[in-house]
Amino acid sequence: MGKRRQIDAGGEAALPTTEGTAVRFQSPSAAPASQQVGKRADGREGVDVPPLERLVAEIRRCRVCRDAPSGLPLPHEPRPVLQAHASARVLVSGQAPGTRVHASGRPFTDPSGERLRDWMAVTEEEFYDSRRVAVVPMGFCFPGLDAKGGDLPPRRECAPLWRARVLGAMPEVELILLVGQYTQRWHTKNAGIRHGNLTERVADWREMLKATGGAGPRMLPLPHPSWRNNSWLRANPWFAAELLPWLQAEIRRLIR
Ligand code: SF4
Repeated sequence: MGKRRQIDAGGEAALPTTEGTAVRFQSPSAAPASQQVGKRADGREGVDVPPLERLVAEIRRCRVCRDAPSGLPLPHEPRPVLQAHASARVLVSGQAPGTRVHASGRPFTDPSGERLRDWMAVTEEEFYDSRRVAVVPMGFCFPGLDAKGGDLPPRRECAPLWRARVLGAMPEVELILLVGQYTQRWHTKNAGIRHGNLTERVADWREMLKATGGAGPRMLPLPHPSWRNNSWLRANPWFAAELLPWLQAEIRRLIR
């Protein structure tokens, strides 16, 4: 049984910050009734559907970035991609789907995913077992490409709308892998931790593990496993020599 966050009567889990406030992770049970109506993958509707399953079903129907965007609408049909289960003890927090993941509808079905699974030392079968590993990016839909052909940042509408509710519905999560700058910024800000640059954030991984985990999951910052970070990986051999062995041992403990 993993470490549980304290859920109060209002259905919220609190993560303390050093700013004297608490980040409230609202569980789906506290969401308005209109937000709890859902349909199972098999088409059945009913009260026996677990809250997280209802929430994920609701997310899969989300069209906010097409119908009510905060800026320009998505240039394509939204296709939310995530993987979540209430028993997952490891959570991979990435950025947003790229073109390949948008096409497959499955997280990390690309070379970055292959490298991430290598870093974690898990098989595809283990990685895609949502009871063990959850994948909850900052933006659930492919945000489109910029003028140079690179991925746009995660849609800003997504995290405020969904993130706390999804995280609050997974009380068994013990370790969150913060993959890339957007999720690192969101989580370090919420936890009151200095952000720094990529090298500073990842080099301070032991400190971040210590600074988090008191009332919630521990957090481990990772560079994005994209080929764009090959030179960073070459320049920072301690990442493979020190961080990855710890990560792999911890993942093995958590998903066994
Ligand atoms: S990116 Fe998030 S908020 Fe936007 S349509 Fe997709 S699921 Fe909805």
